[in-house]
Amino acid sequence: MSPPAAPGDVLGTPLRVQLFDAFLGERVSNIAWLAGLLEGEGAFTICGGGVAIGLNMTDRDVVERSARMVKAPSVAVNNRHQINHKTCYRWTLCGNAAAGVMMTIFPFMGERRRARIKELLAYWRSRKPRYENAVHCPHPDRPSYGRGLCQQCHGKDWYQRNREKVIAANKRRYHARRAVA
Ligand SMILES: [Zn+2]
Repeated sequence: MSPPAAPGDVLGTPLRVQLFDAFLGERVSNIAWLAGLLEGEGAFTICGGGVAIGLNMTDRDVVERSARMVKAPSVAVNNRHQINHKTCYRWTLCGNAAAGVMMTIFPFMGERRRARIKELLAYWRSRKPRYENAVHCPHPDRPSYGRGLCQQCHGKDWYQRNREKVIAANKRRYHARRAVA
């Protein structure tokens, strides 16, 4: 295990400090525990145009503890992937929240995982928001509801993307009512 360093320095990226807020209450030893776990068992991937971290294991307590730490939306029973005929438990974290976790655990990771995380974060940074006015969630303490947003921000985000449609539907409803009257 390499000595911890400030993730922003290591990665040479402007720090997106808000992403680390979720871990402010965590002891370094807990972050190191999480890093060790993900070093061995984690999957670092691209999902839905963003980055993702997944964990799939038979130790339910370990999966649940790590899910709480990263504020994963849920722990699922994974009967399709059994290990030695034992039930697996898994969580997946997508989007900015996953990028935040990657930056947080980066200093603890070995060379192979570091290279993978660098690659994923470079992709994550290069990606343009899929639409203008993308909502940023300033609530890292809340559980992720999707795309790294809490439930409230997720709703706001949905409205931003569907604003035109919502307005058009309201107009149609309004005119339909007037036509009847
Ligand atoms: Zn939020």
